[in-house]
Amino acid sequence: MAATETTSEQTVLDSVRKQLFIGGRWVDATGGETLPVEDPATGATLCEIADAKVEDAKAALAAADEAFKTFREVAPRERSDILRRAYDLITERTDELALLMTLEMGKPVAESKGEIAYAANFFRWYAEEAVRINGRFTVNETGAGRVLTMQQPIGPCLFITPWNFPLAMGTRKIGPAIAAGCSMVVKPAKQTPLSMLALAGILEQAGLPGGVLNVVTSKSSGTIMEPLIRDPRTRKLSFTGSTEVGRKLIEQSAEQVLKVSMELGGNAPLLVFEDADLDKAVEGALLAKMRNGGEACTSANRIYVHESVAQEFSERLAAQIGGLKVGRGTEDGVKVGPLIDEAQRSKVAELVEDAVGKGARAVVGGNRVDGPGYFYAPTVLADLPDDAMILREEIFGPVAPVITFRSDDEAIARANDTEYGLVAYVFTQDLNRAFRVCEALDTGMIGLNQGMVSNAGAPFGGVKQSGFGREGGPEGIDEYLETKYIAMNV
Ligand code: NAP
Repeated sequence: MAATETTSEQTVLDSVRKQLFIGGRWVDATGGETLPVEDPATGATLCEIADAKVEDAKAALAAADEAFKTFREVAPRERSDILRRAYDLITERTDELALLMTLEMGKPVAESKGEIAYAANFFRWYAEEAVRINGRFTVNETGAGRVLTMQQPIGPCLFITPWNFPLAMGTRKIGPAIAAGCSMVVKPAKQTPLSMLALAGILEQAGLPGGVLNVVTSKSSGTIMEPLIRDPRTRKLSFTGSTEVGRKLIEQSAEQVLKVSMELGGNAPLLVFEDADLDKAVEGALLAKMRNGGEACTSANRIYVHESVAQEFSERLAAQIGGLKVGRGTEDGVKVGPLIDEAQRSKVAELVEDAVGKGARAVVGGNRVDGPGYFYAPTVLADLPDDAMILREEIFGPVAPVITFRSDDEAIARANDTEYGLVAYVFTQDLNRAFRVCEALDTGMIGLNQGMVSNAGAPFGGVKQSGFGREGGPEGIDEYLETKYIAMNV
């Protein structure tokens, strides 16, 4: 079977180096083994990439450790310029990067372009922050002596990223780390390594010194990363992925008392109050639910609607969701691509079957889509019983469960009834209610009358089992800096 369908697809695939990027050189994995990358829309193999072994991962950390010694001294303006050049290169190459991302991850090309703009923006934002890393100087409260603080790069970092946003989940970490003067080893998800390999090529072209960024791809993530997490040269781990894996990595990080950031799973509630502008609420719910085909940690997982507007809201949402074209992300007009693999599709199908078996109703969708690839029909579920698994678990697919509520207190209590706390969405036109509800929700982020919160200039992150640490904004660079305090006797 042909790996790809058009010449431009093959050209884009051919343009990416398929090796490991270690110490500024492209190298094969020890033993020369490779692993396949699949197109989730067809199930066909797109290409083979290097399958790193423990020795390769250790070589990557050694390179990062060596590079840190000099990169920490590189002038802030120079670090800033590298990021800015990389931003420009990504932007110039948006079309080919978007096609590459769609091929490996499945989302429609228009959405891939959106992710590329978002991803690049972390480089522009942190190019601007690199020259604004400040300390402070104050007079001691006794009047004798002074307090001086300085911020210094933390050291070699490990980054582990998921498949759902193959570029942005990397640049959110790489941008601030470079701005701060850190070096790093990045391990992208095995399903979507190509975008990260392309990014390594771009950073190389932008003049990033060899060894500052190292990329290892592998089908044995746990085996190759655990020794690095336990290695005393590593000073920071930043992970984006599932809560289950995050928990394991936190345990491993305890050995060296690593500074850790965890961007984990979500179970986002979206609340529509009776005074909401329903046009905005439907539009916001559509975006919060269907962006990335529902495969987002920020995806609206539970849509709570006041009983007085629930029927109208559900019908309007179902009309919109039912009208979305499903297909390969490279085709015109497609709004929903395939899920990443059969395991993910089966999980979505199981959650829907469980809900329907317990009395829920599929207003639209509720089935797999035949043919090659891992497609699932965009779905709206109503009349959900409280014990439906779908209300507890992260769906990670194009399924919108709509539940009714009667009072603000009930809506808040149900929204907070989860171990996750990443993001919530609130639709109301009443300012007092908006503040009251936003203050009462146990989440790291809230979209108020909007269905998206992602923004390079804002602190992205969660509370409870959605993790800790923030990415983006001025807060994002703090994850890569240590504060040193000097007590001055003057
Ligand atoms: P995952 O299974 O946890 O995998 C994430 C990354 O961890 C992948 O690179 C994976 O490599 C690697 N990994 C898996 N097991 C590992 C181990 N034992 N040691 C070291 N690395 C390991 O998550 P996913 O299915 O890729 O991504 C979906 C999850 O990410 C969802 O829960 C979603 O909510 C979360 N997410 C959170 C955010 C956020 O900002 N909070 C953003 C996006 C996604 P392999 O590919 O080899 O398995």
